[in-house]
Amino acid sequence: RSDLRGREPYGAPQIDVPVRLNTNENPYGPSPSLVEDLARVVRENAAGLNRYPDRDAMALRADLAAYLGHGLTAEQVWAANGSNEVIQQILQAFGGPGRCALGFEPSYSMHPILATGAATEWIAGAREEDFGIDPAKAVAAIEEHRPDVVFLTSPNNPTGTALAPETIAAIVAAAPGMVVVDEAYFEFARTGTPSALTLLPDHPRLIVTRTMSKAFAMAGTRLGYLAAHPAVIEALLLVRLPYHLSTLTQAVARTALAHRQELLGTVDRLRAERDATVDWLRGRGLKVADSDANFVLFGHFPNRRAVWEGLLERGVLIREVGPPGWLRVSIGTPEEMAAFKAALEEVL
Ligand code: PLP
Repeated sequence: RSDLRGREPYGAPQIDVPVRLNTNENPYGPSPSLVEDLARVVRENAAGLNRYPDRDAMALRADLAAYLGHGLTAEQVWAANGSNEVIQQILQAFGGPGRCALGFEPSYSMHPILATGAATEWIAGAREEDFGIDPAKAVAAIEEHRPDVVFLTSPNNPTGTALAPETIAAIVAAAPGMVVVDEAYFEFARTGTPSALTLLPDHPRLIVTRTMSKAFAMAGTRLGYLAAHPAVIEALLLVRLPYHLSTLTQAVARTALAHRQELLGTVDRLRAERDATVDWLRGRGLKVADSDANFVLFGHFPNRRAVWEGLLERGVLIREVGPPGWLRVSIGTPEEMAAFKAALEEVL
C-alpha cells in the first residue's frame, strides 16, 4: 500500500545509442509508400486544423472495432493518447479516494503509478516463481481486498508471460469491480492464444486494452484503445478531456489501420527473433522467462547494473526492470540482436 511520495516517475532512459532495445518498440518503421500515405493524410488535414477534432473519434473507433473483430461496434470501443491515457481514464472513472486497485507484480510499472495519481490505493499481489498467476491465490486476494479495479497484463510486461484463459476467467468471475486485461502485446502472443475479448459478452465489467505502439509500430502516434460494455465508455466520457485526440492522431491512426497488413507483417519475424533470443540466452546458461511478447526477461545477475552498463558502453541500450537481478531486452532487427549478443558475450 502506498502513496505518491514513495514513487519514482516513469523514466525509461532515452539515450541516443546505435542499438535501442529498451522500450519494446517495433524496430521496423513504415515503408516508403506508407510514409507517403501518412504525409498525404497529414497534408489533407492541415487546412482544417483551425477546427477542433471529432470529439468522439467515431470513425477511428469504428475502424478499431473492425480490426478487433468479435462482433464489436464503435460504441464498444474507446481510444485515447496511448493505452497509458486509456488506463488513466479508467482509474479516474472507477478508482479514487477510498477505492483500491489490485495488480500482480512484477508487471507494468505504470499501473500503480496511474492508480496512485488517481488517488486509488494500490495493492500488490504476487506472481509465482515462473511469473504466472495462481488463480486460487488471486481469487483469495480479491476476496480479501474487494478491489474496485483488478489489473491483469497478458502477455505481461516485463516478464512476457501470457495468462491461461481459465486464469483470466476465474479472476473476472470473482472480481466485485472492474477487471482490466492489458493486452498491449497481444499480437505477439503465440498463434491460438485467445484474447480476453472472448469473455466480453458475458462480463459487463471487463475492459480489454490494446495499443498501436507495439505490433502496429506507431509508438510515436500515441494511440491506445479499449473494448468494453458501452456503459463503461459512458463513464469514461465523464473524465476525458474535451477533444483529447487530435485531428492528426485520428487521421494517422486510421491510415495505419488501413495498412495493417503491412505493419503487422513484421510480427512473425519478431516472434521468430524472440524465440531465437530465448534459445540463445538459455544456451549461455542464463535463466530466461518464457515470452509471448516482443521482449525477453533474463538473468539473474548479482550486479545487473554492471551488465546493463557494460552493454551501454558497447552501444546497446536494454532495460533494468523486473525483479532484482533480471534485465529485459526488446526484440530488434536481426542486426540489432546480433549486436546485443556480441556485446553480452563480451560483458559476461
Ligand atoms: N501496457 C503495457 C503492458 C505496456 O508495456 C505499455 C508500454 O510499454 C503500455 C501499456 C503503454 O503503451 P502506450 O501508452 O504506448 O499505448
